[in-house]
Amino acid sequence: GATIGVLGGGQLGRMLALAGRAMGYRFVTLDPTPDAPCGQVADRQIVAAYHDVAAARQLAEQADVITYEFENVDAGVTSLLMAESYVPQGSRLLYTTQHRLREKRAIEAAGVKVAPYAEIGSVEELRQAVQRFGTPCVLKTATGGYDGKGQWVIRSQEEIEAAYAELSKAGTELVLEQFIRFAKEISVIAARSPQGEAKAFPVAENVHVNNILHLSIVPARAADEVLREAETMALRIAKALDVIGLIAVEMFLTADGELYVNELAPRPHNSGHYTMEACRTSQFEQHVRAICNLPLGDPGLLTPVVMVNVLGEHVQPLLDWIVRPESEQVPGVTAKVHLYGKQEAKKGRKMGHVNLLSNSPEQALRWIEASTIWDAKHE
Ligand code: ATP
Ligand code: MG
Ligand code: MG
Repeated sequence: GATIGVLGGGQLGRMLALAGRAMGYRFVTLDPTPDAPCGQVADRQIVAAYHDVAAARQLAEQADVITYEFENVDAGVTSLLMAESYVPQGSRLLYTTQHRLREKRAIEAAGVKVAPYAEIGSVEELRQAVQRFGTPCVLKTATGGYDGKGQWVIRSQEEIEAAYAELSKAGTELVLEQFIRFAKEISVIAARSPQGEAKAFPVAENVHVNNILHLSIVPARAADEVLREAETMALRIAKALDVIGLIAVEMFLTADGELYVNELAPRPHNSGHYTMEACRTSQFEQHVRAICNLPLGDPGLLTPVVMVNVLGEHVQPLLDWIVRPESEQVPGVTAKVHLYGKQEAKKGRKMGHVNLLSNSPEQALRWIEASTIWDAKHE
């Protein structure tokens, strides 16, 4: 079979490799940390920095198809890989999604709404934009942010200087966003093949704790027409951005049923881990299908599901729970545990997730609430 090269060796690459190996593909990954989550299940890991050109060339030599599991791929490495191997996702999508301003312009060009925003080049521009949007509003670095890092919720005029000084340190452009008083956060993952075939996974309702995803609930608890609209928006974005592979679309849903796109990720997404057991095709299999030019799989939902993330502080209580005989006894709920093979269970670090399959997602939510596994919340 063909060999798929994965730039990045984290959990997304691991689950991609597990899905792809089941389909007969071989995997080689490039990651600086020896024995990375993806390296453990791939045929080979090249241990080197992501921007290491010689290592990227080695990856290109060993792989028939190359993909990535994070969006901050060095432009030089991308063009080298494009010249020396087959990178079906191309460099354009990376270029767009690496930068919040470019990304927002692309979403708007697709005819989809984002929160009102302004490019910020000076503290004076920030002052004017805060005046316009009112408080609270959110200042973000244009590049490099994740898990809420690289952003500041400005709650009063007095915070303007401090927020600007702090985020300017990153040395990237800044963007100010109006604060959307959302009722819910939702996400849609869409897949698109080189033929232009496109399919969306069911909408996930997402709950964050400390800016890190805690739960995804599927089906999302929102009106049917809102869910259809969210899927349509994701498919519209996938087409307009000429996506090949997956695109994850994070959205805000307001109490009036308005949808705004928050941000995109051109890869498998944490809010799509529920698909592993709850859908006919997982997001990982779908990504492999798309980049290998196979027909897309059916993304249909087999069962309602709640996905709950397992962070460093949740690992030990989870392991204690797994071995208890009553662990099989969550009534009406089947718990599927996934762990990523990471050694150090640091606070806040994504170590695994549990998919709770149940005809009553409310029951699964009550069980999570009652369980002591998720009592510890990191700060
Ligand atoms: P991720 O880990 O998802 O990549 P990130 O660091 O890129 O996170 P965002 O997704 O932009 O950050 O924002 C993190 C969270 O902050 C959002 O999920 C949402 O809860 C809140 N947030 C961000 N922007 C806004 C906004 N304009 N209005 C209201 N809430 C916001
Ligand atoms: Mg982000
Ligand atoms: Mg986000």
